Amino acid sequence: MVLRSKHRRGIMIMEVYKNPNSKKVRGSHVLEVSCAYCKCFIANYQKVGESNLVKMYNNRIIDGSIDFSQYHGAIFCPNCEERIATRYVTKMDKKEAYRLVPSAYNKKKV
Ligand SMILES: [Zn+2]
Repeated sequence: MVLRSKHRRGIMIMEVYKNPNSKKVRGSHVLEVSCAYCKCFIANYQKVGESNLVKMYNNRIIDGSIDFSQYHGAIFCPNCEERIATRYVTKMDKKEAYRLVPSAYNKKKV
C-alpha cells in the first residue's frame, strides 16, 4: 500500500508496510502514531487500556511507514529522521518492544 500525504516539503509518497508479526489483540483499540516534528505517519498500534502510550510491543504494530518485519535498534521518522523510539526487551515478559520518546510522537484514536 502506498500512502500520499500533504507535507511541508510537498506531496510525500510513502510506503506502508504490513507487520507480519502482528497479532490481533482482543479488547484493544487502534492508535495512529505519527511523528511530532513533521506529522509523518509512523504506525498503527493496538493499544490495550487507557494508560499512557509509553511503549509499543512489536507484535501489536499492525502496519507502519517502517518495515517492522525486521527489528531496528531505534525507530527513526522516515521523513525527518528524528528518533521516535528505542528498541528494548520488556523486563516482565521478555517481549520485543520499542520505548517511545515522549516528546517525539503524536497519537490519535483511529
Ligand atoms: Zn518526522
